[in-house]
Amino acid sequence: MRSMAAAAMLKRCLTNPRPFLSSSSLSPSLPLRGPLSRFISTLVLAEHEGGLVKQSSLSAVAAAASINEEKSVTVLLGGSGPSLHKAASHAASCHPLILQVLVAEADILVHPLAETWAELVHLVHKQSGFSHIISSSNSFGKNVLPRAAALLDVSPVTDVIGISEPRLFTRPIYAGNALCTVRYTGADPCIITIRSTSFTLSSSSSEAKSNAAPISQVDLSTFDEGSLPKSRWLNITSQESERPDLANARIVVTGGRALKSAENFKLLEKLAEKLGAAVGATRAAVDAGFVPNDLQVGQTGKIVAPDLYMAFGVSGAIQHLAGMRDSKVIVAVNKDADAPIFQVADYGLVADLFEVIPELLEKLPDKK
Ligand SMILES: Cc1cc2nc3c(=O)[nH]c(=O)nc-3n(C[C@H](O)[C@H](O)[C@H](O)COP(=O)(O)OP(=O)(O)OC[C@H]3O[C@@H](n4cnc5c(N)ncnc54)[C@H](O)[C@@H]3O)c2cc1C
Repeated sequence: MRSMAAAAMLKRCLTNPRPFLSSSSLSPSLPLRGPLSRFISTLVLAEHEGGLVKQSSLSAVAAAASINEEKSVTVLLGGSGPSLHKAASHAASCHPLILQVLVAEADILVHPLAETWAELVHLVHKQSGFSHIISSSNSFGKNVLPRAAALLDVSPVTDVIGISEPRLFTRPIYAGNALCTVRYTGADPCIITIRSTSFTLSSSSSEAKSNAAPISQVDLSTFDEGSLPKSRWLNITSQESERPDLANARIVVTGGRALKSAENFKLLEKLAEKLGAAVGATRAAVDAGFVPNDLQVGQTGKIVAPDLYMAFGVSGAIQHLAGMRDSKVIVAVNKDADAPIFQVADYGLVADLFEVIPELLEKLPDKK
């Protein structure tokens, strides 16, 4: 796809750190422009469901597009069947900077097994050579990309929340209590996982729709399935729910240990139904068995940034704040006026949740 001369020049540019290290020659807050931008080519490892690219992968596309203002983003989708092709069409028209969509069609790629997908990323990079490979920092990206990085002998930069230059990133450390600026100085490809709450893709523009990127098949003839099956997909157990997905919900109502039982958590579920919200929980509530662990918000749970986050009986430990402090409006109800949650709350109510929730249920209208 790219000429040998361009590849050699790209290698020279990237092994000589000057063009990227000189912060005086480039605005740190702007994507790269000019001749160097030609050498940026980003692969987005995307997930799809029901014929659509998942929201978290659209965030990865937004992050990729923020690296370079030229058409340089390739989206990789895998799986089989009609939903894969529908998702490829969605990907092709979701952003004007998408250069192409690559479809890897194989039954072995239907399930997100890290070994298989890391091999695929390795293969696709060998075929096309990318300067960057990006995925969302969810369980899929966190599972696949470090393994792909090991196969490609590079170090991934994980959990990126800001991109100021093509190889200069911001990521949280110490459970979000400090932000760290990381410059990637390794060889190509620069592999990153991004926090989807930090990158949003505006709804597809009409330009993108009328100018859909080409879709091509990945050549899987050298994909060595024989050496792969160190792990096997058995099944997935998930709870069917009409409520919105916790990671993408506009409103989240979260309960802590103070709820005391799974039975009492149903109060929160009723409130969530009235508000059209997702239900979240602290680790203490999960560990006590009140709710399943896929509802956990925090450092070792999900990272959320809804428009409204309501915390009932949540102390506000730093590990919990790490998962929700970017929420636009935070409301906290806690009996203890000194609870740390009040330090991040926009609205705080010192009260007993067992009085507040029934009152809210009584006064809020039913969802139409
Ligand atoms: C490595 C590590 C990772 C972790 N990851 C996470 C994580 O991802 N997510 C997470 O949440 N935690 C995580 N934790 C645990 C975290 O440190 C806290 O223990 C946990 O968040 C506390 O949960 P809680 O607020 O529900 O419980 P508690 O700390 O027990 O707080 C309960 C709160 O409810 C209030 N309360 C009690 N009764 C009432 C009432 N009737 N009405 C109103 N308020 C009431 C109390 O005043 C108190 O503030 C992690 C810990 C470690 C060490």
